Amino acid sequence: MIKGEKFFKPDRLPTIWCPGCGNGIVLHAALETLEEMDCSKKDVVCVSGIGCSSRSGTYTQFDQVHTLHGRAIPFATAIKLSRPEKKVIVFTGDGDASAIGGNHLIHAARRNVDITVIVFNNSIYGMTGGQVSPLTAQYKKGTTARFGNYENQFDLMRLVIGAGATYAARTGSYYFKHMKKYMNKAFSRKGFSLIEVITQCPVYYGRLNGISDPYKMMLQQKDILLTKEKYEALSEEDRSSRLMMGEFIEDNTQYSYIEKREQLLKKVRES
Ligand code: SF4
Repeated sequence: MIKGEKFFKPDRLPTIWCPGCGNGIVLHAALETLEEMDCSKKDVVCVSGIGCSSRSGTYTQFDQVHTLHGRAIPFATAIKLSRPEKKVIVFTGDGDASAIGGNHLIHAARRNVDITVIVFNNSIYGMTGGQVSPLTAQYKKGTTARFGNYENQFDLMRLVIGAGATYAARTGSYYFKHMKKYMNKAFSRKGFSLIEVITQCPVYYGRLNGISDPYKMMLQQKDILLTKEKYEALSEEDRSSRLMMGEFIEDNTQYSYIEKREQLLKKVRES
């Protein structure tokens, strides 16, 4: 049995994911990390919205809620409030998290809710046919941007840090060890954490943007995702097609949502 497999549901195979899709790599990293952390099936609840990556929780042995498009975070918040002993993990895509669910995302970060949000950023809406999302880079193509996307994109790290996130990191499906390291930190801590994983959708994003070989797409991450030093050494123009990777914030000094609630309840009881 490979590491993490004990949390996988084999009767759900085959997955709905296309051959070469990066979603399985991200899920594998999460399951492996949870096994290394000695978690049991009872310790974790997975919550997801709609989209290819949002199917992740359904392939696990954990309790899981597959909710409405963009609404995973409010469900996750409610679960955490009622069962604070659980690790609550949201599996979501770039569209689900930053477009339809964008408002929920910023307010969960602001509240420092004790959940981990893993954003599978494949730069496109895969399940619904290849539309561009708020995380699609400028000039990249989607089925709603045949000649290239002329909208500005969100920088998810800056967005959630600006909203109040206390842990945020970005990596890629090519960087398995980084994913696990960040997941370990995120799953172990209190407060809001978000990990953005750049991942490959060879079928829509790849095909529309002239690189449909999943292996080549993964290798391309070495050129797109750069360390802070390398990224900052680039010209403004060169930065537009690249992203900084690594940990962007790790602040363990703030009280989390659950802690603040406990403090308030204590005050009320004492008054
Ligand atoms: S459409 Fe893209 S993201 Fe969705 S399963 Fe296929 S390769 Fe993966």
